[in-house]
Amino acid sequence: MRTQVGIVGGGPAGLLLSHLLHLEGIASVVLERRSREDLETTVRAGVLEYGTAELLKEVGVGERMEREGSVHHGIELRFDGLGHRIDFADLTDGLSITIYGQQEVVKDLIRTRLETGGQILFDSEAESVHDLDTDSPKVRFLADGEEEEISCDYVAGCDGFLGVCRPAVPERARTEYTRTYPFGWFGILVEGPPSTKELIYTLHDRGFALVSTRSPEIQRLYFQCDPHDDTEEWSDARIWDELSARLATRDGWELTDGKIFQKDIVQMRSFVCEPMQYGRLFLAGDAAHIVPPTGAKGMNLAVADVRVLARALIEFYGSGDTELLDAYSETCLRRVWRAQRFSWWMTSMLHRFDRSDPFQLKVQQAELDYVTSSRAAATTIAENYVGAALG
Ligand SMILES: Cc1cc2nc3c(=O)[nH]c(=O)nc-3n(C[C@H](O)[C@H](O)[C@H](O)COP(=O)(O)OP(=O)(O)OC[C@H]3O[C@@H](n4cnc5c(N)ncnc54)[C@H](O)[C@@H]3O)c2cc1C
Repeated sequence: MRTQVGIVGGGPAGLLLSHLLHLEGIASVVLERRSREDLETTVRAGVLEYGTAELLKEVGVGERMEREGSVHHGIELRFDGLGHRIDFADLTDGLSITIYGQQEVVKDLIRTRLETGGQILFDSEAESVHDLDTDSPKVRFLADGEEEEISCDYVAGCDGFLGVCRPAVPERARTEYTRTYPFGWFGILVEGPPSTKELIYTLHDRGFALVSTRSPEIQRLYFQCDPHDDTEEWSDARIWDELSARLATRDGWELTDGKIFQKDIVQMRSFVCEPMQYGRLFLAGDAAHIVPPTGAKGMNLAVADVRVLARALIEFYGSGDTELLDAYSETCLRRVWRAQRFSWWMTSMLHRFDRSDPFQLKVQQAELDYVTSSRAAATTIAENYVGAALG
């Protein structure tokens, strides 16, 4: 099998790249180890930066998002029993975020690619990538128990944190930067109405909590937990008690509960691999970097990477010029590190690192007091959250 760009991974990064290339007449094949149904039903991210939502509209995959997504103009930061609104619209000249589940973005991209003759090979697991420093790299994969090979001009490694592409870069040619946090997020999916119009991020003596949403019927809530906790040990009643305690306000705000239908624990990690390219392999999205979800940047960074990569490939196929491809890693890493900084900072400000350290809690509360009372400081949150300050 031969194509121009071999794409490993059919998450948001791989699917969007395939679509952007198709719009300019560049052929690609997407290899995805999971089934279509599995991809379309896995609930992960849900906050789209302003630029991400605009891009999806511009390239013709935003129609359902515009109809079913929810545009938010702010978030609430809650601490010491009081809520404080960060008004994005006011602080960033009218910018906003869109709440629309990653699985819905993935559904829209899959449908659009298949309707336009795109090749997505589901249930096809890439085993290895080869000849990256030649002009004909190859991807070997398993489909229906048979080993097959795609030969291409370029390989896009969009296969997430545990994929095969990043490890294919020789160790001497990459540097990895990692930070693992001493806590995780306990996440629940709830069938029921929302408790609030906008997302609430809370710092409490007992730890962080977040009230988020996926749709008017499905709510997403998280609270800081031990990363080694077992979801089985958390009954529904215990989860609601914990969330209610952390979210309580002086004026008696009440959390709306509902039917919990999924519980999971996410380890919190920051990770960057530099550079994001080696020979004819380009890494994009979680394959190259991971952020703790506190800044809602994971999927947005994946989209930003493939936007840069698509532009560079389009330039190459149009003129033979490799300048943008050569600069791919450097171009992406500026945004990646800015998003890392923001995600790390939000995580540091909003979580309890050591519950026996009341001094640290007081300093964190003072920082929250500052960012919610100074217009300059509130603007830094707003412009980073909507994505305008990331380059
Ligand atoms: C539980 C959870 C909750 C999250 N919540 C948020 C959030 O609230 N906000 C936020 O911004 N981000 C969140 N994230 C992060 C966000 O979901 C990711 O950043 C985003 O999915 C990155 O997209 P991607 O396409 O780079 O990688 P992925 O979505 O991981 O896609 C990679 C794809 O490659 C496939 N693959 C892997 N190996 C192979 C192989 N060998 N062969 C073929 N296919 C392969 C995988 O099956 C997968 O479909 C969350 C992540 C998790 C795990």
